[in-house]
Amino acid sequence: MIRASCPTCGDVELTTRDVRVLLCSTTYESSYAFQCPSCRVAVAKPAEARVVDVLLASGISLSVWQMPAELDEAKTGQPISYDDLLEFHFQLGSGADLDTLLAAGTARWLENAGPQDVA
Ligand SMILES: [Zn+2]
Repeated sequence: MIRASCPTCGDVELTTRDVRVLLCSTTYESSYAFQCPSCRVAVAKPAEARVVDVLLASGISLSVWQMPAELDEAKTGQPISYDDLLEFHFQLGSGADLDTLLAAGTARWLENAGPQDVA
């Protein structure tokens, strides 16, 4: 049994199958995660290398993940605003198909902010 802490329920007991160690191969930061057996909330907590070693030695499985490649992409143009999001929400409810809305949005973006920012 492994004792961990849920932010809602406090101390809970878990088996090695309930817990996963997560290692980010981009930052080499690690954490452990579980679903609370009482309230079912997903809990993730940072873990130092010493804790990771203990967890892995006790038979907990390791999942290696990496940051998405999109983080390294160059960002151009203005960030979307709350108004942009609201307008898109209303457009989605208007019955127009998504391809048409996206084509119109891309055309407008190119008119407003695109070429000078992309260059
Ligand atoms: Zn809980």
